[in-house]
Amino acid sequence: MLLAAGATVLKLHPIPPQHLPYKRLDLDRPIGIATGFQLSALRYDPLLCRGVLDISALQARPIDSRRTGEFCGFLNAVELQRSTIAYSAPVRVTCPMAAALYLWEREVVSPSAERHFGSPVVRIDHLGTYSCRRIGNGPTSLPSQHATANAIDVAGFRLADGRRITLTGGWDGKPAEQAFLRDLRDGACGLFKGVLSPDYNAAHHDHFHLDMGPFGVCR
Ligand SMILES: [Zn+2]
Repeated sequence: MLLAAGATVLKLHPIPPQHLPYKRLDLDRPIGIATGFQLSALRYDPLLCRGVLDISALQARPIDSRRTGEFCGFLNAVELQRSTIAYSAPVRVTCPMAAALYLWEREVVSPSAERHFGSPVVRIDHLGTYSCRRIGNGPTSLPSQHATANAIDVAGFRLADGRRITLTGGWDGKPAEQAFLRDLRDGACGLFKGVLSPDYNAAHHDHFHLDMGPFGVCR
């Protein structure tokens, strides 16, 4: 009888797909307990990722795959055409990065800006996505996730009322700016694989590094 009651409840109130890890990611739904897992599944499945982008409201143009250096190139990459927030420069990233960015903008950046400033973010300032180099530019270190456009460095945010919040000025700045930027970092950790903020090291004092590489780090 309990089982039957449970089945009836589930029928009336089905569990939303963002809470079910075996469901395909729906980018236009809110973040759920399985969203991070569903995003992760896109990293090794280009067809799945393309399908997820295609059925979403995010507009992205595929970039032809090509090698650009010893360990560099574009594979399964797109250029954002229209997302929920504009960017200071073109955004050419891997498909999983585009998916995570779209969710971060809409579900983390926008509500955090409303909460802390009462004004929406109209532009995200970034320092770059693709760059053919190794981590920390060391000669023998591992290739950076930037070498395959699997990362973005975000430096600041422009609000509709004209204010500009930067990592350089805001991380240790006014209380609202500190809280806003920490909310963005913490929210990014559930979506991206690698998230580095000024807390990580001095090299990241002026930007968030966000990537979909193999190493889970949130700091
Ligand atoms: Zn970076």
